Amino acid sequence: MDEQPSARRKCATTIRTKSQVTRGSGLEPRRVGYLPWGGQATLPLVSEPLEPTAGALDRAAHLRTQPAELEKLRKGAGYLPVWRHRNLVRSSGSPVPVVLDDREAAPLREVADDEVFLGLVDGRALFAMTLPGHDEVLSESVLAEAGTFNDLRGVGPLLEGRSVDVLASARGLLYWHRHHGYCGSCGGETRSGEAGYVRICRECDRRHFPRTDPAIMALIEHEGRILLARQPRFPPQMFSILAGFVEPGESLEQAVHREVLEESGLEVEKVRYVRSQSWPFPSSLMLGFAMTAKNDAYELDGEELEEARWVSRKALDDPQGFFYPPKFSLSGQLIRMFMRGEV
Ligand SMILES: [Zn+2]
Repeated sequence: MDEQPSARRKCATTIRTKSQVTRGSGLEPRRVGYLPWGGQATLPLVSEPLEPTAGALDRAAHLRTQPAELEKLRKGAGYLPVWRHRNLVRSSGSPVPVVLDDREAAPLREVADDEVFLGLVDGRALFAMTLPGHDEVLSESVLAEAGTFNDLRGVGPLLEGRSVDVLASARGLLYWHRHHGYCGSCGGETRSGEAGYVRICRECDRRHFPRTDPAIMALIEHEGRILLARQPRFPPQMFSILAGFVEPGESLEQAVHREVLEESGLEVEKVRYVRSQSWPFPSSLMLGFAMTAKNDAYELDGEELEEARWVSRKALDDPQGFFYPPKFSLSGQLIRMFMRGEV
């Protein structure tokens, strides 16, 4: 699967504007604001099943159909620009998302391709917008001074969890807009509605909603060891747990049994849900399950997986000749929960 978490990304790809290059690393943003949360992420993007799901971002869905109310909130609102599916993050000090105020955002809003209402943070309305993909837009002074555009997969582990939620929402929603400009029914042009949460066909009025593609991750245990496997596209020596997309007409439980059987030949039991992770690259929701294999005789399909091994907690504590995903990803979380005896 293409959107699976990747491991050991060294750093975010940084887009530097001409002015940043000439001014060197002493760049200090002065005018722009940031989201209020700093510090290191602990569980970015990953749900805590036993806690309320409400985060710091109040999605305020009722406002999406109240344009007059939403317009009032524009005074004092914050704007998050997205460029080539990358988010704007402060380039000096610890990384935090850049939020432009309405005055700073005004010239960019005039050229933006799409704009969506993300919700409220501490009562302040937050919008996200897609900037045109050409390089010239980066010469806007407010952008040049504010930070750099980064791929969220790279910079995410350095951000505080609530910041990641907001940036992931911006990226995921704007990606969907970018790729749904035409109606899947009649081919007519679509327009944005409900503050960015629907696209409506100009020809047949059909309404299209943002989609999320569920995918399962399978932590398979057998007598104190878990099955780790590698796909041919993984970096050398990287192993992870099994994963696959849910197919139409399939329940999550059926998807778990099918994927595990297809990829490893194993039959499993005691399947239980553990936790989930939004993975908007471009639109996945990863659902993590733990389970027990009926026996340890796996047989790889030879296409999706090229190698597998049963790994004990001891081997995970001190991996020799292999590594597994970082804790930023759901697979890395599940493996560490197994190591701590939590699943
Ligand atoms: Zn249509």
